[in-house]
Amino acid sequence: MKLNVFTNLDELVLHLKEESPKENYKVEVGLRPSGIIHLGNMITLAYAAWLVNSLGTHKSKLNVTICDIDAQGVDGNTLKTYNHLPDAYECHETFADHSTANIKDYVSLLSEELGVEFTFSKLSDIQKNESYRWGIERLLSDPTHLKEILGMDNLKHGKVPVFPICPTCKTATKSFSDYDNISKKIKSHCKQCDEDREYYLFDPNIELPVHFLIDPIRDGLVEPLSDVHVFGGDYNELHGQNQIKKVDKIKMFNEAACLFNKTIGTKYLVGPLFYSEDGSKMSKSNLNGLSLDKLKEHFRGLSGKEWIKHIIGFSRYLIKNNVTHTDYSITKNELLGGSFTQKY
Ligand SMILES: [Zn+2]
Ligand SMILES: [Zn+2]
Repeated sequence: MKLNVFTNLDELVLHLKEESPKENYKVEVGLRPSGIIHLGNMITLAYAAWLVNSLGTHKSKLNVTICDIDAQGVDGNTLKTYNHLPDAYECHETFADHSTANIKDYVSLLSEELGVEFTFSKLSDIQKNESYRWGIERLLSDPTHLKEILGMDNLKHGKVPVFPICPTCKTATKSFSDYDNISKKIKSHCKQCDEDREYYLFDPNIELPVHFLIDPIRDGLVEPLSDVHVFGGDYNELHGQNQIKKVDKIKMFNEAACLFNKTIGTKYLVGPLFYSEDGSKMSKSNLNGLSLDKLKEHFRGLSGKEWIKHIIGFSRYLIKNNVTHTDYSITKNELLGGSFTQKY
């Protein structure tokens, strides 16, 4: 069996150099432009930068994909994607653009320090790619497999986890769409406009958000293909009724979507999980995460070039000690100089 999922960065580097030596490697990270950059995001990006650094900066590159068609629920029925949300600060065109600028600042500091070359892409652009749409087609036209991977026993035939954006009101509806694999048409009902809509799967003008474990199929479909995709620690967690790890589901979707591409060989690196002071998992949903803004406040008085060294040192510590579960005491001692107390 091919070894695909790694938690140890040094092991992965050895594996790549021995098993698939290449002239250049592409390392991929995807990020939701949700507005807050959490410790998990910061360390995922740091792991990706360290990986490029270890593989050789002259021949490897980091690409950060901004998942700008990821959505926020407006209410129970309606989704609004970050590229169609207004910038609350009114300095950029969209919410996604504002968040991207902040992520770019962070990645620039990190990359400069580690000598890493990087590019940014938008999922809204990538998803237009015809080979990506073919990958989606392969997943949607095999409902049994889709159901099996998602672990949804009660998924009705023809129901698919894609959420096309209505061109009139720019919202998506939170329920699964219908798919006809003869006409290749996706049908959904726009709750906002209260109208039925029909979309041709291969129309590049439609914006097609998909289940969050599906869009990483881009790794094996859209050039330049990814050699390694780096995820945060929560991707090693079990997901859904079938209790399969998120990263394993991503791998399964990728293999199903790239059926005809024998060369696909994306490896996955999963970073560590972080715990809060109260012992619970740091997460976006319970607001106990350590954000970039809080960290900057902690390091106030230091320039970007100076505080980024703390992140770099901390991530190197986690890599060298192969830490997969990071207790708060480790974060406190190794990143915050022992002097930080979380305030909510
Ligand atoms: Zn702005
Ligand atoms: Zn609409």
